[in-house]
Amino acid sequence: MKVLKFGGTSVGSPERIEQLLPIIRSQAADKHLVVLSAVSGTTNDLVTLSELYAKKEDKAAQKHIDILYDKYKKFVKELFRTEPGTLEALAFIDNVFQLLYKFDSTNFTTTEERIILAQGEIISTTLFHLHLKEKGISSVLLSALDFMLIDKEGEPDVEYIREHATSEMAKFSDEKLFITQGYICRNAQGEIDNLRRGGSDYTASLLGAALQVEEIQIWTDIDGFHNNDPRYVPNTKPIAHLNFDEAAELSYFGAKILHPQSVFPARKYNVPVRLLDTMNLSASGTLISGETKNLNQIVAIAAKDNITAIRIQSSRMLMAYGFLRKIFEVFEVHKTPIDMITTSEVAVSLTIDQTEFLPEIIKKLESFGTVDIDNEQSIICIVGDFKKNNHGLATIVSEAVKHIPVRMISYGGSENNISLLVPTSYKIEALRSLHNRLF
Ligand code: ASP
Ligand code: MG
Repeated sequence: MKVLKFGGTSVGSPERIEQLLPIIRSQAADKHLVVLSAVSGTTNDLVTLSELYAKKEDKAAQKHIDILYDKYKKFVKELFRTEPGTLEALAFIDNVFQLLYKFDSTNFTTTEERIILAQGEIISTTLFHLHLKEKGISSVLLSALDFMLIDKEGEPDVEYIREHATSEMAKFSDEKLFITQGYICRNAQGEIDNLRRGGSDYTASLLGAALQVEEIQIWTDIDGFHNNDPRYVPNTKPIAHLNFDEAAELSYFGAKILHPQSVFPARKYNVPVRLLDTMNLSASGTLISGETKNLNQIVAIAAKDNITAIRIQSSRMLMAYGFLRKIFEVFEVHKTPIDMITTSEVAVSLTIDQTEFLPEIIKKLESFGTVDIDNEQSIICIVGDFKKNNHGLATIVSEAVKHIPVRMISYGGSENNISLLVPTSYKIEALRSLHNRLF
């Protein structure tokens, strides 16, 4: 069995949905589970809608629903070609929108918000299922709410997912094609919840891991992970193979193609992930697996923006122990992850990308020493084989950025990454210069 996940743009228009049929048909011989995102833009619309209800702007909320409703009526009329097909899809859409219209700002809580946010994937999967039915292709629509579960900490329960997804699928033992929603799940209270924005990749990976499938395919609009950011650098190339660690670093540090968390279940259960392109079916994409194939070379460069650097300088740090623990505790208390760290004997610099609690954090850090903040920084992450016997590569990296004011360098944390922190205004130049020097 395989899991095939299609993102928001792949189901973004009736035309794009029709283009998925050859892909589905090509897999018809095997069992496969299709995971879909919401139609691109819909989750954003639902977020806006929830915000309007939360702000008690009921009139604006109802107007916002009108617009989305019209969009979907048009969508259905374009996608469906037969009268029964169109009527069935319209009846379903009507139901969803009646539900949305029924909310109002009285007692509007996060529970209601999450029900609203779930509708995007419920719509896309149901329309896709009905579209296949109209084309005479048999499929089963499974509700992710029957098996995708997170615990009190928001962590997915893979054992539960395995047991319940297996038993849902077993009810249709002759069926080859299953469809379910990405992103949505239930939480420990049994309420509708979600895996946070971009979480459909995570759903696909969790299901692939739980069901121990042969391969998790993530279908997008690009022919795999590229060796640099194609938005800023000309002549980037897709990477044929990455190991799980390389893929985790690249997706965390900026490569938008894969949700960073989705690497972990695949790695833990050793299920290969293949990134494929719906617009270029002959491209072989990127295969992510447990094998390491990129030896003695630099594999890719990625960048992550909106980074804030914090320096804490204190003579009390000199020869003291326990100092770093106290600093890290401040971030832990405010649930703020740290990305990069560098230290000297009297100072420590670190970076964060979540600044919600920055004022509180600074206030606490000031009790340890002088605190300096640099905003608008970018982490440039260079992924490759930086084992200790491979020293030449680090030199080439530093040479390539010799004209750029590098704020921090992190080397040696893992064997497959060097990270540089540069002001975002130098990011494109850094990406290009590294590209020219390294590839
Ligand atoms: N629809 C959700 C979002 O836009 C999940 C996803 O597309 O992966 O964030
Ligand atoms: Mg996505």
